[in-house]
Amino acid sequence: MSQEISPKDVLKKYWGYDTFRYNQEEVIENILSNKDTLALMPTGAGKSLCYQIPALMKKGVCIVISPLVALMLDQQKSLEEKGISSKAIHSNLSRQEIETILNNCLLSKIKILYISPERVSSKLFLSYFEKMKISLIAVDEAHCISMWGYDFRPSFLKIANLRKYHPQVAILALSATAQRQVAKDIEEKLLFKKPNTIYSSFEKENISYNIFYEENKLERLVYIIKELRKDGVGIIYVRSRGNTIRIAHQLQSLGIKALAYNAAMSFPLRKLHQIKWQNDEVDCIVATTAFGMGIDKKDVRYVIHWDLPHSIEEYTQEVGRAGRDLKKAFGILLYNDNDIEQLRGNIEKMFPSKKYIQNMYNALCNYYQLAVGTGKDIRRDFPMLSFFHRYNFNAYEGYNAIKLLERSSLIEIIESDDVVSRIFFIANREEVFAFLEDYPQYYHLIEALRRNYAGIMTQFTIISEEKLARITYDEEKNVKKSLKMLEQYNILHYEPKTENAQIIFTFDRIPDSNFSLSEETYYNVKKTHKQKAEEMIDFIKSKECREKYILNYFNLPIENCNRCDICLKNNQKKNKKELKERIFNDIKLSPKKLNYFAYSINYNSTKEENIEIVRELLDEDKIFVKKSATDLYLSATDL
Ligand SMILES: [Zn+2]
Repeated sequence: MSQEISPKDVLKKYWGYDTFRYNQEEVIENILSNKDTLALMPTGAGKSLCYQIPALMKKGVCIVISPLVALMLDQQKSLEEKGISSKAIHSNLSRQEIETILNNCLLSKIKILYISPERVSSKLFLSYFEKMKISLIAVDEAHCISMWGYDFRPSFLKIANLRKYHPQVAILALSATAQRQVAKDIEEKLLFKKPNTIYSSFEKENISYNIFYEENKLERLVYIIKELRKDGVGIIYVRSRGNTIRIAHQLQSLGIKALAYNAAMSFPLRKLHQIKWQNDEVDCIVATTAFGMGIDKKDVRYVIHWDLPHSIEEYTQEVGRAGRDLKKAFGILLYNDNDIEQLRGNIEKMFPSKKYIQNMYNALCNYYQLAVGTGKDIRRDFPMLSFFHRYNFNAYEGYNAIKLLERSSLIEIIESDDVVSRIFFIANREEVFAFLEDYPQYYHLIEALRRNYAGIMTQFTIISEEKLARITYDEEKNVKKSLKMLEQYNILHYEPKTENAQIIFTFDRIPDSNFSLSEETYYNVKKTHKQKAEEMIDFIKSKECREKYILNYFNLPIENCNRCDICLKNNQKKNKKELKERIFNDIKLSPKKLNYFAYSINYNSTKEENIEIVRELLDEDKIFVKKSATDLYLSATDL
């Protein structure tokens, strides 16, 4: 470690900031002095800087274990843009690509290596890891290691094995949410030399939590968006893909500029909607909860939950995507009794019976014609929906059964999101030129590759067939054909993008008699999920300050926030006179529909309280009911 350079210098040099936020500096100091550290920081607090800065200050490779491929790729890209050498190993890479990366790690050409938890126990990785110089091991989303957490992933349990290869290297575990019990579990499972948890303040002074019981959610949603849209864009979270489209349409028909976003939409359309939203061209985006991860938009003004999140952890993470600029923002949740029932039902469907899961496994093996005792390492295209259709599985339950098989490590699914085409030249320059003498028809294509993709002669490079077609004045299908031909001539490796998801069988097919689900990956997880859902239900029904409730849940003591719906309601009760004055003044400002007072988040009193006040004002002849062509209005003048 170079003594002259401080973490602040590195921060300034690569990120351009002068100061650290939250507890970043404390965490970094701990890591620089080689202490195992668990850092608990709220979403958006800049967790990644906590390992990136030590990685730049220490010699060797920093290994970052992360379960989210999309986030890994984002981080890697933004590091590369800063001129920091970084790579990611994940399921979409071929063995050869992975070996190239690992070789570069051995040669210390890479500072930060991202890798998925499944890969760290692979023989291939370990054979290189053993010989690498390691600066630090960072474990992102560390709560996944704990069975008591809300997102337990068995693959995390293998991370601790890395310690025996490099016992002196410190581990930095990172999480946005972890109860005390989970925190303790993380330290134990990662074999911390000494317990060392650093808590950042989870208090969000700019966020106002509002949870409303509401039978007519759509009407209320429209009111809220109309009120908040002048300040910026928001996210409406729904749990089903179909609902993203349905609700976006309904909002559009009610005068709201809303776009849908879900993983089943085509990539260009999804991207277009995301960009329009990021550029503030719409009021809001209606999305499944995957939306927002890895999107760095600081001025999201509100997050509205249309469905109940499955846990308080999920809820706070999702609300945490609002107000990262530290300006006032809202977390709003609308629910009624149906939603509570639905949440409980969802948990049941998330964990279908053992019999169901076993049927799914057998159907998969039959589909790919695997006999008992065969199939290990087989990798195939997996058209999930047509497979479900053929074997009569319901999509939601079927999907969950597949996920559970994956958790039991029997199969691995590689989703097709963002899969790109890649090329790597096998032949060297001289061989390429010799080849072109015999096959001049490939000259333009090879030149286009060499000129447009720096590094393509030495490493796997992402290419676009469409772009190549434009450059060579050819059709895309011809470009693909030529690339395949060049592969056959041993000039290059070509990995075209695939449209389908892929499935890998991790083990030979097991016979029915050996099929079992473990406590660890099934029964306990199911129990935890049920418990988390009940905690969520208790939370929304509670009459305690919302923020206090959340922080107490994470064992962090705090006073009432004075910003959430409950706090404001309690304060308002003392101030009925003030509320009456506010309502009267608002009507004086411009006539209002009665609904305005029933739904507005400007009044943190109940519908009934507001309507009682309106009645009083009417009785006192201070306001009057007016009729327009379509509606009834409240007005402060009798003209
Ligand atoms: Zn409060």
